Amino acid sequence: MAASTKLSSFRLPPLPTIGEIIKLYNLRAEKQLSQNFLLDLRLTDKIVRQAGCLRDAHVCEVGPGPGGLTRSILNAGATDVLVVEKDTRFISGLKLLSEAAPGRVRIVHGDILTYRMDRGFPDTISKPWDGDPPNLHIIGNLPFNVSTPLIIKWLENIANRTGPFAFGRTQLTLTFQKEVAERLTASTGSKQRSRLSIMAQYLCTVHNRFTIPGRAFVPKPKVDVGVVHFTPLVQPQIQHPFKLVEKVIRNVFQFRRKYCYKGVEKLFPEASRFELTQKMLQNADVDPTLRPTELTIPQFRALADAYAHLCTHEPSLLHYEFREELRLKPLTKQGNKPEGTFIMD
Ligand code: SAM
Repeated sequence: MAASTKLSSFRLPPLPTIGEIIKLYNLRAEKQLSQNFLLDLRLTDKIVRQAGCLRDAHVCEVGPGPGGLTRSILNAGATDVLVVEKDTRFISGLKLLSEAAPGRVRIVHGDILTYRMDRGFPDTISKPWDGDPPNLHIIGNLPFNVSTPLIIKWLENIANRTGPFAFGRTQLTLTFQKEVAERLTASTGSKQRSRLSIMAQYLCTVHNRFTIPGRAFVPKPKVDVGVVHFTPLVQPQIQHPFKLVEKVIRNVFQFRRKYCYKGVEKLFPEASRFELTQKMLQNADVDPTLRPTELTIPQFRALADAYAHLCTHEPSLLHYEFREELRLKPLTKQGNKPEGTFIMD
């Protein structure tokens, strides 16, 4: 009883609906900023519930727009909500929300890709990396056009314990295009297994919590949306610098339908390619005829170990980039691209 009374004190006073806010401030969605709004507060409440308990939490919300998700975060009991919004048109509506929840909303008019989140919260909320996560959450109905670069950036931050992860194992609850959500959580052997699956899963526990049909958004996007929750692992499953791990995974997945040795080869310059590929696969004890999608994370760890070992003997390998070499090379006689299917994911 006492707890419910306390939570009710977090609830917002009556406000115009999100639809009314959109009309009031003439907030037509901008395609360029991937704006698709959620007007149904039951749905935004459901997204926010995926973050776990937000009582007294610090939250960074990415792209609050007209503020539907922000209202749910406040109603869930967060006491410090820092919203980062790029589009000026939303700032007045967010100020209205901030007045309704005095001292609980901080508005940053800026770009989440460059915002220094490590400066946005007090050091006192930090928790040791091997302890429980801090009471800090990143939540966002992400713009599609920044969701992949943003999660890659945050995964690098997790590996280096920088940015939002300078405070500890900060949890993230984010939306992605359904196909991207499926790739992030795909298991070994599945059709969706990709570079993103390995990158996310070697650093985090990742769950695809539920799918929101496109029709729930205004305007309706062409795709459905997945809500994904990430908790950084205490021990990453691969313990090498992020850039090295990323390079191995990227090269292996370069030819996702072919045998994995085809991608491994591209880690090495032509002159030593055959010999070093054999050595790397042997040392890693990985069957060269497995497809990239069939490799487990321990096998990627073994590949990263074997590649790092080769690089300690020949440090120039670390700087070798097959694509860079391709760019500098004239096209083949027929003007063809090299064999293989390039799928950037
Ligand atoms: N949170 C709102 C909702 O659920 O209805 C809006 C979500 S909409 C998909 C994405 C929001 O992110 C928009 O408000 C857009 O202006 C904002 N946005 C786009 N790019 C951004 C960036 N680089 N940094 C911060 N906000 C951005």
